[in-house]
Amino acid sequence: MSSATPAAPKPPPPKLNPVRVPIDEEPVGERTTDFREVLHAYSKEDAVLEAKRCIQCRRPWCVEACPISQDAREYIRLIAVEDFDGAARVTLAEDPLATCLCKVCYHYCEDACVVKKKGVPIAIRHLKRVALDYGNSDLVYVPSKPKHQRVAVVGGGPAGMMAAWELGIRGYSVTVYEQADRWGGLMQTIPAYRMTDADVETDRARFRDLDVTFVHNTKVGRDFPLDQLLREGYAAVFVSIGTSTHRTLGVPGEELPGVVPALEFLKQLNHGLPVSVGREIVVVGGGDVAMDSVRSALRLSRGGRVTLVYRRGREEMPADPEEVHGAEHEGIRFLFQKAPVRIVGTEHVEGIVVQSVELGPPDAGGRRSPTPVPGSEETIPCDTVVVAVGQKADLEGFGPELDLKLTSQGWPEGKGKGFETGVPGIFSAGGRSVVYAMGSASQAAEAIDAYLAAKRGESPTPRPDPFGGEGTWHLPAGYTTPIRS
Ligand SMILES: Cc1cc2nc3c(=O)[nH]c(=O)nc-3n(C[C@H](O)[C@H](O)[C@H](O)COP(=O)(O)OP(=O)(O)OC[C@H]3O[C@@H](n4cnc5c(N)ncnc54)[C@H](O)[C@@H]3O)c2cc1C
Ligand code: SF4
Repeated sequence: MSSATPAAPKPPPPKLNPVRVPIDEEPVGERTTDFREVLHAYSKEDAVLEAKRCIQCRRPWCVEACPISQDAREYIRLIAVEDFDGAARVTLAEDPLATCLCKVCYHYCEDACVVKKKGVPIAIRHLKRVALDYGNSDLVYVPSKPKHQRVAVVGGGPAGMMAAWELGIRGYSVTVYEQADRWGGLMQTIPAYRMTDADVETDRARFRDLDVTFVHNTKVGRDFPLDQLLREGYAAVFVSIGTSTHRTLGVPGEELPGVVPALEFLKQLNHGLPVSVGREIVVVGGGDVAMDSVRSALRLSRGGRVTLVYRRGREEMPADPEEVHGAEHEGIRFLFQKAPVRIVGTEHVEGIVVQSVELGPPDAGGRRSPTPVPGSEETIPCDTVVVAVGQKADLEGFGPELDLKLTSQGWPEGKGKGFETGVPGIFSAGGRSVVYAMGSASQAAEAIDAYLAAKRGESPTPRPDPFGGEGTWHLPAGYTTPIRS
């Protein structure tokens, strides 16, 4: 007979609470008259209750789904035990744009959260805001020992900022060239009811002790050639120019006064410049820019009507479901399967002619192509048309020697594993959301560090503790494979 003691029974699996602690919002009737913030922060008590719903998975699905591998499991654990300072530190140690991301991230982590299988996932993004609101977020990044090598970053959007942070904390001297008069890239077009300029500045303030210099109002490739940076002694260059120009509809009448590209419309609004819209506004498009445009237009319309025209169906809309829900809730009229044919008017827009479309079977990419229905034209009377049908990169001054590829959403990037371009020492990346742009920039910065370390005859520098502590960054326990949605 065996004398071995029987194995202890397995502990029961943690009980899963499928119901999210509600996130308060400004009432619809009040919030659509101005640009006040729509979502309210959790109270401390509600935050702790929500954090306690997290079952602290052994394999952190939320972290694996995050392009910057933010250790959400850990900051949620700290919030659950009311250690808000600890939660803020964990957050900021991996996310230098946390004040922005806690409000606008598309939270890929929540899609992967196991609690979603039974109910509503943990409010991971909203809890990040809790960490910053109630913990000490007044932290400053500390550079490692200077490397005495300079790196130029072209473009001060999320990708450029992430690269500047990764290289700055490793001890490189970084100069960020930005064509606009402020940094943040396309985040500068996100309306104030979701995120403000002050959020961007709060994040930038934590860079103040790094050897990172910001040069505004300088368009590389126009004001001076890109390769001048290498000739001037920069040891490497990171190009993160994003998609700063708008696509057009390509229909007659688009040049009429009253037709505005969405990027221009949203940027002017955020910069406090006069934006005139009428009381019958049509926005064309189905993505996030279209959602921000309809909701902003509604706030400017003084009780007018805002209609969204989209050529595919609701299921095909690429916009974040949270934004679509917000727009519907605020009373935006949605017209699906309608394609613009022309814009009409004499001295100003008076209407947009649309045609019904039928959707064919999904193509290889899963998208259904629209086919016009003959004789189905109709005119929607309106005095303003906002065109939100996508953006593209402005590649003026970025020649074929870089051998850049454009992603399906139009972002330019280097074809190499670490986003190397065709020119040694020049790297390029960016991405379709703030956190994606940061994730790709992080990979590129690692490759830049490896490239420069090889030139010094040294090994690459692992990411240091950005607050000057001992040790280097590592992935959390249980992490296996990155999930990229
Ligand atoms: C209206 C709107 C709403 C959005 N909402 C969200 C959201 O809620 N959540 C989310 O995650 N993402 C959102 N996005 C997408 C997100 O903003 C982008 O994915 C992200 O900003 C991409 O970062 P990037 O650094 O790659 O490029 P960009 O943000 O495009 O930054 C590129 C920067 O390079 C500069 N630049 C370009 N050419 C030059 C040059 N030659 N010389 C110097 N500087 C140059 C540009 O001025 C710009 O500042 C939104 C985008 C828009 C337009
Ligand atoms: S996946 Fe969800 S439940 Fe699991 S650790 Fe992350 S937040 Fe918690």
